Amino acid sequence: MIKLVQTNQSISNNKLPDNDNKASKQNKFSRFDPDKISDDEDNSWAEDLSQSGGSDGGGGRGGEEDYYGEEEEYGEESIDKGHKIEALEETPTAHNQDESYVIRKKNNKRVTINVYCTEYEIVKKVSRKVNNFKLKELEEDHEGAVIKGQGGQKLSHAWDISWHDLAITPDYMSKMQSYQKVNHFPGMYVVCRKNFLARNLMKMQRQFPDEYSFFPKTWLLPSEQIEFRNQFTTVSLNGKSNPKQGKKKTYIVKPEALSQGKGIFLSRSMEEIMDSCQNEGCVVQRYIHQPYLIDDLKFDLRIYVMLYGVNPLRIYFHEQGLARFATEEYQCPVNSNLDNLYMHLTNYAINKNNDKFQQNEDEDEDDQGHKRSLNAILCLLKQEGHDPERLLREIKDIIVKTLVIGQPYLSHLYKSCQPEDLDNSMCFQILGFDVILDHKCKPWLLEVNQSPSFSTDSPLDYKIKKQVIGDAFNLLNCSHERRQEHIRLKKEEMEKRIMTGKINKINQEEKEKIRQEKLKERFEYEEDRMGGYELIFPCEDETQNKLYESYIQKANDLWDDFTTGGKSKKAKEQLNEKKNSIVQ
Ligand code: ADP
Repeated sequence: MIKLVQTNQSISNNKLPDNDNKASKQNKFSRFDPDKISDDEDNSWAEDLSQSGGSDGGGGRGGEEDYYGEEEEYGEESIDKGHKIEALEETPTAHNQDESYVIRKKNNKRVTINVYCTEYEIVKKVSRKVNNFKLKELEEDHEGAVIKGQGGQKLSHAWDISWHDLAITPDYMSKMQSYQKVNHFPGMYVVCRKNFLARNLMKMQRQFPDEYSFFPKTWLLPSEQIEFRNQFTTVSLNGKSNPKQGKKKTYIVKPEALSQGKGIFLSRSMEEIMDSCQNEGCVVQRYIHQPYLIDDLKFDLRIYVMLYGVNPLRIYFHEQGLARFATEEYQCPVNSNLDNLYMHLTNYAINKNNDKFQQNEDEDEDDQGHKRSLNAILCLLKQEGHDPERLLREIKDIIVKTLVIGQPYLSHLYKSCQPEDLDNSMCFQILGFDVILDHKCKPWLLEVNQSPSFSTDSPLDYKIKKQVIGDAFNLLNCSHERRQEHIRLKKEEMEKRIMTGKINKINQEEKEKIRQEKLKERFEYEEDRMGGYELIFPCEDETQNKLYESYIQKANDLWDDFTTGGKSKKAKEQLNEKKNSIVQ
């Protein structure tokens, strides 16, 4: 059989933004590659932590001149063409009357976004036009600092937000100032890489079989080959294994570190699957053979989720999303159609190459073509007798349960990079959850993208992604005042240190108090600025929250078992026992 292999160049294991085939800035700066750390999950925890580097929050003076040094300001044209507009004028002149030039008054009070590490025009456009940010392109050789062993480079102080198309290193985060925000959490591959996601979901499934039953049955090959072989054989009373009788099941095989449908194939043959997984780790899943069909086509949903805090977790769900359609009429898998990728895969990167692919031409007709809006799908499902509210509730539940599994590792990394941070808001991340519906309209999680594509090939793409990005920026609470406050506090701290010769340290109790105050302020700030986002964790329903907390607790126990063999949990219990006996 023919494998559904894409001809595109293979990419690094640190996935490229999906759907985006542009030659990215790969050569401009080296990328963080989790596989450079380790292919093996067990080692990756430890090795990645060892890269977290200095945890002093990034050295450097907090002097005002650092923040307001030589400004480079760009207009719309200049960004597109890569030119810098030198003049910053208030009064119109012959050339800035030309509409193509957007010359802005030099204004240090605007929020500054560093767009050096993004190629997405929409990020720049939304920053400038919707959120009135100032754009800068500041090259920062942060990856080099880790990989080439040239530690010590500082990040620029001149930005408030930095947008990266690909993942950041712990080293990068450890060098950020407390008022700066970046659009990735270090270590996000813990839920976004196919094999880590599967392994961690399966660990939770063993603890909560009914609650964690929202992903197709999965095996990690080659490590779980014995369990996988059992799918094809039965063991008789005399201990002999025989081939299973009856209808053959279909499996979908995915290289563990690729995306955009690359390297994926369908198979019903154990030998074929085992062969293909000998040299390269693969995630093998039961194929959902009866998907929900619209116009006889298979589709999946791209749901946008913003993670904005890991300790505690803060998860936002965006009401705008997309549905990506396959381009050949769906038929149940049989040997003769297994290799028809236009029928079985819904990736845009694959289906746009089919002559039958119809691009959506009008953002208001969002129920047309092979990419439609989430809303259009929900309306249609309602017409067909389903309950869209229930479906959305189930999808939100899947999202929270999935992110819960990454919480211990993400918060551990966050804390080791920025031990003094009490805001829990230096990182935010827009994730793309891929969900498929089966014929009963039950949602199944397929994967989580840490760099969902922000390419805008159609007006509908543009409309939806603009809202997702713009609403995320609105939640961030970046401002000139915040930056000033940071400078003031640093100055104050420095003065105290000079006067007393001591470092001003606050105790745990005080820290917790400040943390709680900040959390309260944050709720109030974000409540009015959500736009299309909805806070799904913590949520309003206290019973539901408690349930999620219990999953987080379990995820922490598993992490503790994994990293210390459960020692830290035992130590905590002993401490509590001691405290109790003193009180009695
Ligand atoms: P990638 O990251 O390469 O896009 P996915 O896991 O999203 O990998 O799979 C690609 C496509 O394959 C999905 O969009 C979906 O259409 C199809 N697919 C993936 N897993 C399954 C499954 N278990 N059952 C049915 N279809 C699947």
